Amino acid sequence: MPVAFGAGFYQVGRSKAQLAAERGLRRRTERRLTRDAHHDRLTGLANRSRLERDIQAIVGNSRSADRPALLLLDLDRFKFVNDSLGHDVGDALLAAIAGRLRRALRAAAGVYRLGGDEFVVTIAGRPSDGKVENVCRTICDLFAEPFDVRCHRVASGCSIGVTFLEAGDTSMSEPLARADHALYEAKAMPGSGFRFFDAALAAEVEARAAVEEDLARAMRADEFFLEYQPIVNVESGAVRAFEALLRWRHPEKGRIMPDLFLPAAKRTGLILPLGGWVVREACREAARWPAPAGVSINVVGEQFRDRAFVGHVKACLRETGLAPVRLTIEVAESVFSVDAAVIRESLSELRSHGVRVALDDFGIGFSSINTLSAFPIDQLKIDRSVTRAMMESRRDADLVDIILKLGRTFQVTTTVEGIESEDQLDFIRQRGACEAQGYLISAPMAGPEVACLLAQTDDRLSA
Ligand code: C2E
Ligand code: CA
Ligand code: CA
Repeated sequence: MPVAFGAGFYQVGRSKAQLAAERGLRRRTERRLTRDAHHDRLTGLANRSRLERDIQAIVGNSRSADRPALLLLDLDRFKFVNDSLGHDVGDALLAAIAGRLRRALRAAAGVYRLGGDEFVVTIAGRPSDGKVENVCRTICDLFAEPFDVRCHRVASGCSIGVTFLEAGDTSMSEPLARADHALYEAKAMPGSGFRFFDAALAAEVEARAAVEEDLARAMRADEFFLEYQPIVNVESGAVRAFEALLRWRHPEKGRIMPDLFLPAAKRTGLILPLGGWVVREACREAARWPAPAGVSINVVGEQFRDRAFVGHVKACLRETGLAPVRLTIEVAESVFSVDAAVIRESLSELRSHGVRVALDDFGIGFSSINTLSAFPIDQLKIDRSVTRAMMESRRDADLVDIILKLGRTFQVTTTVEGIESEDQLDFIRQRGACEAQGYLISAPMAGPEVACLLAQTDDRLSA
């Protein structure tokens, strides 16, 4: 063929030296392309695809007696650095960290950047736990000194999840998933630190997965229900509203309280359909009560991040015919620490629709005056741990006093939770609290009991 002939002719026409030079150039280009494909541009470290290739080579060799360690690193506060100082500083910080890791670990370990602020360190052969711990400590120590990047002095920390490559691993994703579980635990500890994926953690992960699966099943099987706890006026004892509290009627385990399953619901995102159900169910129930008795619903940050939430609340009010002013949304102060703008917008929209907003669990956490002045609220709920402490120490009694004064300054209703004794009730009455909630008044009760209680109160009032 003319083309083939032409190409062949062309080659014959070149000198041997030219051909050798071209071959060399091609080899160098290939090497560079492979290097680019396996290296991270920003830090010059090996990248995710290189890690995948290296791990595949190890797990593919079934006769090897090696048990290499894999360390998954995640920086603390990296998002904060990126958001507050800009991406250039973030990038420079990542490059500086990569430099420290490379210099400190050199021949002892492989260093990779997976992307974002995630790094992996591998220790080849059969390293002992002690050796791996030493490497972890070396890495944590690298973060003791702040980083000077682009005229900024940035302090960062790091958490490490550790696992070993096991005989049963078939790909990179299995050891990475184990390291990630261990990392999750390491991140829960304060400061830099590391955690090994061990048998106890494996059991925990399995149990967590079982609860998550069970929750999804329970949602389909309609196993959730609400109880209602009265909130009363301190002076008159009249019931203003009921707080709706979620329970799970498990077919084998019986009744399960929210503290035990809400974390799993948040992890899996199931809090969105579940929280949506709570709103509808509570509105439906409250619409049957004689006005003006209201209902309070607990809402977490994840629900506000769902843009459909405010619309859903309005739709539930419309469908059930409950007057918006009879509904209170309770939020803990911690929701304001993330996505404050979204939360403020949602709460303002709900309030302009007539819905009340309560700040829940006040007195623990930040209890910031700033939150009170910056966010639109109608009610302040003093946490039950504060209530418990106020009879025991002068300091805690003064704290309750200060919070009640704050409530008056900001002209919001103050509700004291966890009232279990007459002494506590007298105490808050003397200090001017508006409302009380707790076992002394009533434990949370089933929906039909609420109607009875309200009917009795009506009778008493009209008698
Ligand atoms: P919370 O909002 O602080 O709700 C009050 C908790 O205090 C309830 O626990 C209630 O049963 C308990 N309690 C009431 N009176 C007393 C008392 O006198 N002494 C003591 N020691 N405790 C009292 P519960 O029902 O176990 O709920 C725990 C938490 O779960 C709630 O704390 C709330 O944060 C959350 N929660 C409950 N239902 C829902 C829900 O539908 N959605 C969301 N997102 N969270 C919910
Ligand atoms: Ca609450
Ligand atoms: Ca509370």
